[in-house]
Amino acid sequence: MTDPRTARAEAIRALSIPSSLLPADGRFGSGPSRLRDEQVDALGTTYRGVLGTSHRQKPVKELVARTRRGLAELFSLPEGYEVVLGNGGSTAFWDVAAISLVERRSEHLVLGEFSQKFATETTNAPHLLDPLVVTAEPGSLPRPVVDEDVDAYAWPHNETSTGVMVPVERPAGAREDQLVLVDATSVAGAAQVDVSQTDAYYFAPQKAFASDGGLWLSLLSSAAIERAGRLEAQSDRWVPGFLSLQAAIDNSRKDQTLNTPAVATLALLADQVEWLLEQGGLAWSDARTRATSGLLHQWAERRPEVTAFVSDPAARSQVVTTLDIDESIDATAITSVLRAHGVVDVEPYRKLGRNQLRIATFPAVPESDVEALVAVLDHVLDATA
Ligand SMILES: *Cc1c(COP(=O)(O)O)cnc(C)c1O
Repeated sequence: MTDPRTARAEAIRALSIPSSLLPADGRFGSGPSRLRDEQVDALGTTYRGVLGTSHRQKPVKELVARTRRGLAELFSLPEGYEVVLGNGGSTAFWDVAAISLVERRSEHLVLGEFSQKFATETTNAPHLLDPLVVTAEPGSLPRPVVDEDVDAYAWPHNETSTGVMVPVERPAGAREDQLVLVDATSVAGAAQVDVSQTDAYYFAPQKAFASDGGLWLSLLSSAAIERAGRLEAQSDRWVPGFLSLQAAIDNSRKDQTLNTPAVATLALLADQVEWLLEQGGLAWSDARTRATSGLLHQWAERRPEVTAFVSDPAARSQVVTTLDIDESIDATAITSVLRAHGVVDVEPYRKLGRNQLRIATFPAVPESDVEALVAVLDHVLDATA
């Protein structure tokens, strides 16, 4: 005899979900994330003649210029800050920062897989002392500890692997020469932020900016720019050319990248930044993502089988909602029947290893699609109860 959990999983997997319930767009992944149709269509029309042309000529440089201008406006860039970009995604920026921004020793808040990765880089870097690491259980929120001995504090604005959002504020009592490096990869563009609280607010285009991967972007303070120049001038520090922040700064000022960028990524990004501004900027996207993630949390409160993984409501992400499913129900059966119906990428972060759904509500995801997703999930649970 099959046990009840297996029997229910089989029933879930065999379910046929009425198409009238399905969202118009079934992409709910935490990155890469859904692109708007208008962006994709523009690649074949507006940008048809720009794709496949030189990144040292005006049409591609204009995409970079539009992105830099648009981001400066979107984030109300404070005096002295610059929008800098380079190839390699946020993962590359961790190495850029380990070379060009951390002087001797950094402090890291580690609350999940992404924040761990940066701490691992500075731990392995032979030119740096081992970092000070403040660790929190996945799903909970650590706070920075002011320490005389560090020259940079690092944490994620949104820990994408767990769905915890960390406030972006300079630690009270931190010295001016201690830089604040915030990994905003999955929430930049989706939430209000005061960039002056950071020295590097960095991200990649494939999450809230609904573009493709491959680039990193960083809003740098004058203190960060000064630090990079000074560290890279030191004779005892090897700066691999690809990881030089100074090279990225110099190229960005000319609206270009050190080496060849993905032109399509730039086109998608420039359009999304301008779309966000047209909708009402960060005030608009912040309100939308609070509303859409709120629908998921209201659903979790309504369903006895579902519990928010992040127990502290104040620490819950407005772009990545993590929901634990009761052990009597196999969450992989749910994600697999959804996938068979075109509702994709709501699997939990693989290394977290929980019986969970992880649902992204980036600015390009309208409320109507989240309402439909909730109806689909209700159907799956109710039809197999
Ligand atoms: C996705 C993500 C990254 C990795 O970005 P890549 O562009 O793939 O390197 C880093 N940090 C956070 C918080 C992320 O969500």
